[in-house]
Amino acid sequence: AKVDGKNRWAAYDPERNAREIARITLSTAMPAALEREEFYVDYQPIVSLADGKLLGVEALVRWTHPEFGRLGPDRFIGLAEETGLIVPLGRWVLETSCRQAMKWRAMGASPTVNVNLAARQVAEPGLVDEIAGIIEDVGIPPTSLQLELTESAIMGTTGEPLEALRRLVDLGVRIAIDDFGTGYSNLAYLRHLPVHSLKIAGSFVEGLRAGQLESVDAQIVTALVSLAHTLRLDVIAEGVETSEQADLLRRIGADSAQGWLYAKPGPPEDVERWLT
Ligand code: C2E
Ligand code: CA
Ligand code: CA
Repeated sequence: AKVDGKNRWAAYDPERNAREIARITLSTAMPAALEREEFYVDYQPIVSLADGKLLGVEALVRWTHPEFGRLGPDRFIGLAEETGLIVPLGRWVLETSCRQAMKWRAMGASPTVNVNLAARQVAEPGLVDEIAGIIEDVGIPPTSLQLELTESAIMGTTGEPLEALRRLVDLGVRIAIDDFGTGYSNLAYLRHLPVHSLKIAGSFVEGLRAGQLESVDAQIVTALVSLAHTLRLDVIAEGVETSEQADLLRRIGADSAQGWLYAKPGPPEDVERWLT
């Protein structure tokens, strides 16, 4: 490594350099990957805690990279947000999962389809018209679509984007706050937001242990559920891995749950066994 007068190259770190190259490689490959249909969507069931029935699914995007194989969203969503490709990619995920939901409807089931929206998409002026267009083209009832936004995406929302959320709600679309409790929650603000559901982050659920309703994590979850219900919001617990966690969540009063205990994210066919 070369060291110049300003020490600019002194911190040269081959690992960091390789990561940077991988990032650039992935971001430049993404637009063509979208064209070539290298992305696909897996679906993970959301189940009623009361009776174990399927209420909905969350759509989770993946990428089959020709060279690097299957990549999870943590590898490329951040990059797509930076480059703006999240806008067409997000649109593709929305349309694909709404079409899939219609196939399940044709089989006699009507799970809600939850789709993640990046902050960048919410800020996009054409978002509402685009979603309205997809709903119309695909023919999905708007109440069967739930958009998931993180606290930071939603709380930073004022003016136009907030107006966008209101218009979406007017269309009949449902809004969920994702990873609730991990971000910057302005509780006073929450009261005035057009939202229907809170998703409790898996990091809280992880700490739930059998019989321990008094543990700090159990008390946090209890407080979140009680807050949500005061605001008449539906509560979805994420990252539920054990039946002990599910029992505790049921006792605490959470409405529904999602996690490996029920099913890992998988192809549409995996959801079909829930439809009978
Ligand atoms: P998220 O929205 O919080 O999604 C839940 C993540 O938890 C998923 O990771 C899911 O596979 C994982 N998960 C589900 N059940 C369990 C469990 O029982 N235990 C544990 N430890 N994990 C569980 P995934 O699929 O890797 O997605 C990561 C993140 O990428 C998502 O987090 C979401 O923020 C983002 N993402 C995924 N698809 C999209 C998309 O289409 N658009 C946008 N903007 N973001 C997306
Ligand atoms: Ca989510
Ligand atoms: Ca989440």
